[in-house]
Amino acid sequence: MNQEIKEQILQKIKDYHRIILSRHIRPDGDAVGSTRGLAGIIRATWPDKEVYVVNRDMADYLSFLGPEDSAPEDALWADALAIVMDTATEERISNGKIRLCREIIKIDHHIDIKPFGDLPWVEDGRSSTCEMVADFYITFRDQLVLNRETATLIYLGMVTDSGRFRFREVSGETLRCASVLLDTGIDTETLYAQLYLEDVSHLKLQAYVLRNMKMTENGVASIYLSLAMQKKYGLTGEQASSAISFLESIRGCLVWLAFIEHEDAEKGKTIRVRLRSRFVTINQLAEKYRGGGHACASGSTVYNRREVNDLIQDADGLVRDYKATHEGWL
Ligand code: AMP
Repeated sequence: MNQEIKEQILQKIKDYHRIILSRHIRPDGDAVGSTRGLAGIIRATWPDKEVYVVNRDMADYLSFLGPEDSAPEDALWADALAIVMDTATEERISNGKIRLCREIIKIDHHIDIKPFGDLPWVEDGRSSTCEMVADFYITFRDQLVLNRETATLIYLGMVTDSGRFRFREVSGETLRCASVLLDTGIDTETLYAQLYLEDVSHLKLQAYVLRNMKMTENGVASIYLSLAMQKKYGLTGEQASSAISFLESIRGCLVWLAFIEHEDAEKGKTIRVRLRSRFVTINQLAEKYRGGGHACASGSTVYNRREVNDLIQDADGLVRDYKATHEGWL
């Protein structure tokens, strides 16, 4: 699929000596894996190229992957190629200088609400951007080099963004891509231990969330984590954000929401919303509240308790309508 775009991207990578890869803010495994994974393929294939993975933030839970590259001087960006991975909109790029680059390639699997870049390759049916990187490698494997370390990064993104190959977007193609990565000899035991072992403090947060969550009449679970609560429990913003995952397996609860208060240097107190669902499509709901994302995983921002309640009510209406018109939900 998209053979022509992939060929154009390969040609651009060949054409440029200096390449800068960036991803979205508050990165997840797919954002980190896809940038570092594609960077790894380029470096292994063309050792003389200058390749930089440049972003202004990183995720604590992925710190075992090591630090990012330092950025080249500003003057060196003008003849560089930028490749922005896993990022739906330009505002979410974790690199404010991306426009200094001569050209921008976008590679992403999010719904394309606000296109950007000179050469976009977007497939919103893919389970992860890392799946696209694996597909890119497989398409041109006679010309590209993939070592085990790089395959591990790409596999990490595939595993994390697909809920361990569980989500709706996972296809035969996903597993065919993953199989090529596994064939390099990835140490999955260590990788899964690094990704999924938890500290006791995280498990205590789980207990808090389950004790304090609210449930609507039709099956929307939600948790509100105030700044005071985050301080009391000694949580980083990232740890507080992870609370969404504790609400995901409640029978009959098709939408679940986490509201996380956040102190923004410019805007003051904002409330980050993480929206997740089974069966029900929620990205339009997220868009109504200044956000967006995927059918079953979206994010938005609200500014006060009234908006929190409105969003919960809207989600409850969605679930009510869905249940009234569909069978087979769980
Ligand atoms: P998160 O809850 O931050 O993991 O976001 C879930 C999905 O929604 C991700 O794919 C994000 O790219 C997307 N998303 C989160 N926040 C926003 C936003 N403010 N605008 C557009 N998309 C978002």
